[in-house]
Amino acid sequence: MTDFVGAGRYAPSPSGDLHFGNLRTAVLAWLFARTTGRAFYLRVEDIDTGRSSAESAAQQIADLADLGLDWDGEVLYQSQRFEDYAAALVKLPHYECYCSRKEIAEASQAPHSIPGHYPGTCRDLTEDERMFKRAELIGQGRVPALRLRAGVAKWQIHDYYAGEVVGEVDDMVLRRGGSQPDWAYNLAVVVDDAYQGVDQVVRGDDLLSSAPRQAYLAHLLQLPVPEYVHVPLVMNAAGQRLSKRDGAEVTLRSMRPQEMFPRIAASLSYGAETSQELLKQFRPERLSREPFVLK
Ligand code: GLU
Repeated sequence: MTDFVGAGRYAPSPSGDLHFGNLRTAVLAWLFARTTGRAFYLRVEDIDTGRSSAESAAQQIADLADLGLDWDGEVLYQSQRFEDYAAALVKLPHYECYCSRKEIAEASQAPHSIPGHYPGTCRDLTEDERMFKRAELIGQGRVPALRLRAGVAKWQIHDYYAGEVVGEVDDMVLRRGGSQPDWAYNLAVVVDDAYQGVDQVVRGDDLLSSAPRQAYLAHLLQLPVPEYVHVPLVMNAAGQRLSKRDGAEVTLRSMRPQEMFPRIAASLSYGAETSQELLKQFRPERLSREPFVLK
């Protein structure tokens, strides 16, 4: 039995095959954990009930194993964790939000507003206004979203590569509304990282802007804030973030893991055929901060 000091994790959303960029991030998360004496966990982020599937989760887990990654303990499924999210919710100041996506998009186009940020429309409604709006939504078979009543507008985090990062915090959604009330990603991630003892979060740098919000939630819940390591993404030849649209040739559906692994290692500037070979060579400070372009 190994004594681990802390833990890292990889936390894919099971809504399709992992592509080259996802697999590269998984390899990096595994390398960071394994070179620092940490445990490494897999967490299936299947809170989005409309988009997640058990088949996709099983395939992703099989692909990660085929690539030569190993992990500790059982895989954690967010769909099994709703009670803990509900317990965290009651500890956080929050309010019901009745806005539609369209209303929020329109309001956040107003002068001086930050794109995509919630302008606080439902924050200070009177009880009468709430009752009216709630009844209207429920009449349409929908429930209101629940939003954090944030006490700050910004929060600072430290990232291994990006250094000190100050990011915007708004009244983020904690539980989504509509006809399918799902738990929100930011809340679930924070609750689960703490539950699993994760103290090192390695993931794609598209999520760097979420880190201040998540660290603020952890602060409010009196949970430890992990070390953040946001790694560069993979772009396609057209300079766009690699996505499912780039097709099967960037997944393990059309390539054997023995062919994929050396390509991932090469994208990190190493010559290695297997995960164990790469583990011996990996130096985090050598990683390029530029996105890798897959040609
Ligand atoms: N589930 C998220 C994704 O697949 C990653 C979440 C995280 O690493 O915090 O993009």
